[in-house]
Amino acid sequence: MATSNRSQARASSPSAGRVSSPPTRPGGRILTLRVDNDGRKVEIFDYYLKPVACEEGPAFELSKLQGDGETYHVRIGEDASCECKGFLRWGHCKHVDSLTALKQSNRL
Ligand SMILES: [Zn+2]
Repeated sequence: MATSNRSQARASSPSAGRVSSPPTRPGGRILTLRVDNDGRKVEIFDYYLKPVACEEGPAFELSKLQGDGETYHVRIGEDASCECKGFLRWGHCKHVDSLTALKQSNRL
């Protein structure tokens, strides 16, 4: 008798971010990312979100509001990419994941 195989994935992926409207500065909005690390620790990151022209897909410039104000160029779509260390190391990151989720739900 098979035991029920309920492999409910522990969601450690970032929940979709939030984009504020109206714009907070010309051509830019605030993107708030809420990263849930296995439900133990929640980190909030705020970025200025600015669409940038890119032929290969929807692309954005994210400038961190806190800390050292790092800026990442993020592209979503089939050939997603990001400049952050996470993406370089793992091939995915919270920036790409959340922008993709926002795009898919038409909230970008
Ligand atoms: Zn990234």
